[in-house]
Amino acid sequence: MENVIIVGTGCAGLTAAIYTARANLAPLVLEGRQPGGQLTTTTAVENFPGFPEGVDGPDLIIRMHQQAEKFGSRFQYGIVEEFEHAGTHTRIKVDGAWRETKALIIASGASPRYLELDREKELIGHGVTSCATCDGAFYRNVPVCVVGGGDSACEEATFLTRFASKVYLIHRRDTLRASKIMADRARANPKIEPVWNSAITAYLTDEAGEVRGVKLKNLITGAESALDLKCVFVAIGHEPNTAPFRGKLDTDENGYLIQKNGTRTNLSGVFAAGDVADHVYRQAITAAGQGCAAAIDAERWLAEQES
Ligand code: NAP
Repeated sequence: MENVIIVGTGCAGLTAAIYTARANLAPLVLEGRQPGGQLTTTTAVENFPGFPEGVDGPDLIIRMHQQAEKFGSRFQYGIVEEFEHAGTHTRIKVDGAWRETKALIIASGASPRYLELDREKELIGHGVTSCATCDGAFYRNVPVCVVGGGDSACEEATFLTRFASKVYLIHRRDTLRASKIMADRARANPKIEPVWNSAITAYLTDEAGEVRGVKLKNLITGAESALDLKCVFVAIGHEPNTAPFRGKLDTDENGYLIQKNGTRTNLSGVFAAGDVADHVYRQAITAAGQGCAAAIDAERWLAEQES
């Protein structure tokens, strides 16, 4: 029986690991499909306090990981397949084996959403992606596009201008929802060409099955057109990673875990932190803050069980 299992190694999970490890709870931390979480797919993080020059996302995660290990966190690769609450403790099935824990902190984050167009899944890695940091350098001196109008879309579009000959920013409206600084930076970049009020309706591919363009529809006039480009970077938000917990833990209508009284879920001893529960702030620093809160909530809950 573990004291605490933490699911996820993004900012929330790693901060929960630092705090629970420092409380001598020797947490077991499960690293899932994307160890390090979303920060591993960003470049410079300019808004994390304490780094006036900015910090590389993956570097920040490596430092948090080292800090968590230093105080006694144990890391293990594993995907949670099932979840059962047994009143006084929780059971989770990880890669086929059941593990038992007194407290569980769910910090499994959120995954990128895609457009749900025909053949999209098979084109991921062949000209459709959600990660400019990972794939941008493959598209040097060719046109690409970014879909979306938020901070991610503007950040990715600006980043991609380092490589691509041109970056179309395709947005379904004519106003960006991104913060002013990100939007201004994208708008001022001569390599970025906005395509307003438009949606991609199909991916066009060449004989090798690689993207060579997209079909577009203007959402105001209905006019259809096509753009020649080599890669579509989808930046339209995220889905919370709650699959094993659905139907057992309370979620909102979009599937985000509901927190009450701090980071507590509807089940005793089960806590939620970061993007799996937060669809409002979704920042590295707020995820870290929630990881800290969940660790403190779990530690107090464990102390209550023993008294
Ligand atoms: P977001 O703010 O939710 O923006 C998603 C964008 O995608 C919106 O412009 C939305 O259009 C569009 N969209 C949604 N579904 C679509 C669909 N099916 N087809 C076409 N377009 C679609 O997501 P985000 O940009 O990933 O940002 C998430 C959070 O992370 C925000 O809080 C943001 O501030 C933060 N963030 C911060 C930084 C940074 O500070 N460095 C970087 C990245 C993200 P509408 O505008 O019409 O709804």
